[in-house]
Amino acid sequence: MNSEDSQPDLSRLPEDRERRSYDFGRMTRRMPGAVATPNDAEQVARLVRRAASDGVPLAIRGGGHSQSGKSLTQGGWVLDTRGLNQVQLLGDELVRAQGGAPWGQILDALRGTRRLPPVVADIAEVTVGGTLSAGGLGTTSHRHGVQIAHVEKLEVVTGTGERVRCSRSENASLFDAVRGGQGQFGIITEAWLRLRRAGGRLRQYLLRYSDFERFASDLERIVEEGRFDHLRAETRMHQRTILLSAAIEYDDPPDDGQVLEGLGYEKIDASGETDEVARAVMFPKWGFSWRNHHPWRDWFMPWETLPTLLEQPWLDPQTIPRAPGSWTGVYPIRMGPIDAPLFMRPGGERMLSYSVLAVLSRRERAHKVAERLREIDRTLVGLGGKSYLSGDVGYGRREWAEHYGEKLELGIQWKKEFDPKRVFQAEGLPF
Ligand SMILES: Cc1cc2nc3c(=O)[nH]c(=O)nc-3n(C[C@H](O)[C@H](O)[C@H](O)COP(=O)(O)OP(=O)(O)OC[C@H]3O[C@@H](n4cnc5c(N)ncnc54)[C@H](O)[C@@H]3O)c2cc1C
Repeated sequence: MNSEDSQPDLSRLPEDRERRSYDFGRMTRRMPGAVATPNDAEQVARLVRRAASDGVPLAIRGGGHSQSGKSLTQGGWVLDTRGLNQVQLLGDELVRAQGGAPWGQILDALRGTRRLPPVVADIAEVTVGGTLSAGGLGTTSHRHGVQIAHVEKLEVVTGTGERVRCSRSENASLFDAVRGGQGQFGIITEAWLRLRRAGGRLRQYLLRYSDFERFASDLERIVEEGRFDHLRAETRMHQRTILLSAAIEYDDPPDDGQVLEGLGYEKIDASGETDEVARAVMFPKWGFSWRNHHPWRDWFMPWETLPTLLEQPWLDPQTIPRAPGSWTGVYPIRMGPIDAPLFMRPGGERMLSYSVLAVLSRRERAHKVAERLREIDRTLVGLGGKSYLSGDVGYGRREWAEHYGEKLELGIQWKKEFDPKRVFQAEGLPF
């Protein structure tokens, strides 16, 4: 994956530059001065050294699915990781992936092996580097927590243009800084990701609830019992309905009667079988048309807030559109040992991810919803929540201090150590 003298091309903007001047859902637009698409880590390192010596800010763009302009720059250079997309299986326990590899490509490489990463993002287009710099949750998070806990080793190009291998035992502070570090300390050029055993097939159930109390106690119970391998709930407040998507990976077909025994759902809306074990639980690409705007936020909430999250009194229908004009969802997450200090979350052994994503055709309306989501943020943080930083966060100095608490100082120190010339300047972040 090396080339000694090739230079990344900075001369042209890509053909699809109009589309790529936006981040997810066309919420923020910035036009870069140039875009480079390096093919290997050495090219990445040279580009970073050049940006550092020329004093040009560099934005890292993976799948471009974040918001607040984190993958964009106005007039600086974009380092597009699309060319860093190689994936290599290393026996049963590890897969080695370049930082720009989309999660869908990792699943394709593992097809037929009965091995999967413990947690896979639920959209195929986001990249390994993109989710590891955020945290990485998915439909198996009630069992396995977040992706950053399952990384064995990384190769990172720091802000000084050095290529550094890091892990829990080697250059551990860099390893800690970049996992959940929002691309502010270095570029993940390669990741060694642990694998787990996966079932050969998947059985999925879509369970409809109208009794919210019953849903809450069922969720508690099925997470406790580990009855399903995949869980995600969509709440449709305006219809007073919750749709629980639950799935089991199997080799020997499970008995429906046993799997669903004692649960208080109203009806089974759908069920199905597939051998596409991980892809089947992903959102389809066509679900998000580039023509639409998607104001979106995601929070990690204390487990005890579940009843309030289900009622969600903040979702006034005048501002937040009704489903299918919006998607509000809940993922249960087991905390376990998550050893990445800048990944901020509430205390306790379990938490919930709560998200609101709207689908709107008019830009003005989308920005109104984004503003409302910032007000809702205050309510949810007041309930003990922490923002997942991928969405349109819009924090100022005070909110960052509140978000990171005493870890803010650690982030500032790491920035001085790993990116002293401030080459990586994602918009709106505190480091
Ligand atoms: C529809 C939708 C579904 C989503 N589903 C999930 C989900 O299931 N699980 C989940 O965890 N998140 C999910 N997200 C959030 C998304 O995964 C994060 O925003 C993630 O950071 C985006 O990855 P990306 O490759 O698109 O990165 P980008 O948006 O391109 O970049 C995001 C951030 O990561 C940094 N970055 C990107 N690549 C690298 C790299 N190689 N090295 C260092 N830093 C890098 C950038 O600097 C930037 O700050 C979803 C988002 C959307 C819009």
